[in-house]
Amino acid sequence: MPARDFDIAIIGGGPAGLTAALYAGRNRDRAIMLEGKAPGGQLLNTELIEDYPGFMSILGVDLATVMEQQAAHFGTELMRTEVRAIKLLPDGMKLIETYEGDYRAAAVIITAGGNPRKLGVPGEEEFAGRGVSYCAVCDGAFFKDVHLAVIGGGDAAVEEALFLTRYASRVTIIHRRRDFRAQPILIDEARKHPKVDFITDTVVESIDGVAKVARLSLHNIDSGRRTQLEVGGVFIFIGFIPNTQLVDAHIDHDKAGYYLTDPMTMMTNIPGIFAAGDVRSQLTRQITTAVGDATTATIAASKWVEEWRRGRDDTSAELVDAAARGAA
Ligand code: NAP
Repeated sequence: MPARDFDIAIIGGGPAGLTAALYAGRNRDRAIMLEGKAPGGQLLNTELIEDYPGFMSILGVDLATVMEQQAAHFGTELMRTEVRAIKLLPDGMKLIETYEGDYRAAAVIITAGGNPRKLGVPGEEEFAGRGVSYCAVCDGAFFKDVHLAVIGGGDAAVEEALFLTRYASRVTIIHRRRDFRAQPILIDEARKHPKVDFITDTVVESIDGVAKVARLSLHNIDSGRRTQLEVGGVFIFIGFIPNTQLVDAHIDHDKAGYYLTDPMTMMTNIPGIFAAGDVRSQLTRQITTAVGDATTATIAASKWVEEWRRGRDDTSAELVDAAARGAA
């Protein structure tokens, strides 16, 4: 089947992708959003959201549902398919290869998010799904009255630790430093919570057990002391690896692999390739920033496509004129 042509292809269907789909649809661009899983991205891994303006609080899944409905309402095609690769074509179009067919687009907005970073210690892979988890909302309820460990010192670790107190008998946050990246308001809340305690300056050396997680081997990097902590499960929230491997060309990125973009337009160093949300290098990664990035990226992409087409038409008109002059 020949590849179908679009003005804009949006890769990924989290808050950034759904916002891009909404704006592209309202702008009457011929647009398609390609998402391998259910739309919503990390919203689907978040229980309650209290920092999205307009809602005092809303369930992640509910926000994802309404964002999807709104995106579809304005006419962008929402396609459930996983993107394999994005290639640059000689005519300036981009070829998007998926497992169920190919698409061509003048501009691509990459909003592909990423995957949780792994600790990389013995036992992590072995006990995945048997006490090792990266999603509190998905797995928390399996750990009723169990002592849990949460690894990490960022917003995600502290927020998810607080969430896990609904089920766990106790939640121990283990962080490799004394200072936390997490917002002070979250740290305060966790410190006040009767079920939460902290172990700092400590790394996990291994996750141990027989059929499932039973304990962690810990190493205090300040004192050098090695200890064991009996836990029934461990939730790992140590950051995120952006999905930036799809484009078959070099895109400028920062040390952690996040795409560098022009702040005015969200365009990468490749003309017509834009990035928004968690794949983009920036200070913070919030739903609000993903939505903001995607708004800018889509308006810029729309203008870029128009100018690119005009440039291409002018060039072909000049070529036709030149050919006609040559023939005369
Ligand atoms: P993050 O802010 O990058 O924090 C990652 C944490 O994991 C850091 O404390 C880091 O320690 C630790 N870490 C990294 N690699 C480690 C390793 N190999 N072993 C042990 N610890 C390791 O990531 P995040 O918490 O996932 O948050 C990502 C972004 O989403 C942030 O911008 C955050 O603000 C945002 N977020 C916001 C909210 C909210 O506002 N409601 C909720 C969740 C996430 P060091 O500090 O020592 O580097």
